Formats: sequence, C-alpha cells, structure tokens
Amino acid sequence: MAVPSEPPEKMMFQLNLRRRGISDQNVLRAMDEVPREAFVQRGDRADAYRDSALGIACGQTISQPFVVAYMTEQLHVGRDHRALEIGAGSGYQAAILSRLCKHVLTIERYRTLADSARDRLENLGYHNIEVMFGDGFDVPAGAGNFDRIIVTAAMEQIPESLLLRLEPGGILIAPVGPHQGTQTLVRVTRTDGGFGRKALVDVRFVPALPGIAREL
Ligand code: SAH
Repeated sequence: MAVPSEPPEKMMFQLNLRRRGISDQNVLRAMDEVPREAFVQRGDRADAYRDSALGIACGQTISQPFVVAYMTEQLHVGRDHRALEIGAGSGYQAAILSRLCKHVLTIERYRTLADSARDRLENLGYHNIEVMFGDGFDVPAGAGNFDRIIVTAAMEQIPESLLLRLEPGGILIAPVGPHQGTQTLVRVTRTDGGFGRKALVDVRFVPALPGIAREL
C-alpha cells in the first residue's frame, strides 16, 4: 500500500526547525499541521516553507517560521490557556497557538489584515480564534486577563498596562527595542511578587504602532 508522501519541502521545513533547536513535540506538530501556504500572498506560495519572513498586505510581514516556532516554544502554552496576540497580520501565529491552547484573541490595527485573517482562519476551520480590529496598546477591559500574551511587533518598551493583563503565573513574550534595527525577544513571567524578565535572542520585527491604522 502506498504511504501518502509529504511534499519534500514540508519535510525539510520540519527538519530545519529541529536542526535549529525546536524540540517541543506539540509545537513541531502544530507547525506541521498549519498550512503556511494559505497565509502568504498568492505569488509567494512556492516559498511558503522556506525559513524566511514574507511580505503581506499593508506593508506588513508574516514572521519567519523558526521565529514563530521559537516564540511559541518559549511561551509554554497549555491546553487550558487563553492567549492574546498583538499583531494578527496574516493570522499564522494565531493558528499555531490555537492548536495548543483553548482560545486565542488576536488584535490587528489594519482593518484589511484583520478582515482577511478572520476570513482565512474561518475557512481553514480554526474555531477557537477571535480576530479583533483594534489597538493592542489598548486591549478592551472586557477581554479580561490572559494566561499567555505574545506580541509579534516591535515595542520600544512593554507597557505596564499590558503586563497587568497577565494572570498570576502568566507569561508574555515580546520583541523589545528600537523600531529601526534589532530588538531582543524578552520573556516576562508574572510571579507572586511582581515580574521576572529574561532576554532570549535578537530578532527583527515590524514596529508596533499606537492606535488603529488610518489607511485600510
Ligand atoms: N503574527 C503575524 C505577523 C505580525 S507582523 C503573522 O503571523 O502573520 C506585525 C503586525 O502587527 C502587523 O500586521 C501590524 O499591523 C500589527 N500591529 C502593529 N502595531 C499594532 C497595534 N498597536 N495593535 C495591533 N496590531 C498592531
């Protein structure tokens, strides 16, 4: 009986993630299950499984797969967690998270991106993700607090108001640093006494900008 074969580029995709140090089996499985080709622009589909960031609408980017996997691994997501993402972009990172936790709220400041990410995720059958058009610097109080927060756009500093949205024991990951140039991925854990902070690796993200975008 013929074994259904995976396209070679998807095998290489997994191999590369492992080679670069991703070892969490649940993260690797999520990276295998979510079809990245459905999140990139039509003309980039042939490059969907290369380890590089790609352009999406509104001058934004879908992150490099290794960075998505690394951030997800470092977030230590649990099955019963509620997660918040700031910077929905294509919806890819939210889709990965949704395979690992109970619910994901993802916020995007471009209406066009929010609408297309929502449609895409719905069509692909991800039912535990809410895509919100809004400003991640001003998360509505009604959304409550979160076990995990992931910021996928560069912040010059992490606002205290965002840290306070973490449940006790909660973890936040964000690229922190100047908008132009290199940022450091920072992981903050909310403890009984306050917040513990750990610098992870250098990364490059598009900037987190305040307010909703005036452009579509
Ligand atoms: N996680 C995305 C890629 C993020 S690119 C993916 O998987 O495809 C960063 C995104 O953050 C951009 O779409 C940008 O518009 C958005 N962004 C920047 N500042 C924001 C803010 N204040 N609130 C919400 N989204 C923001």
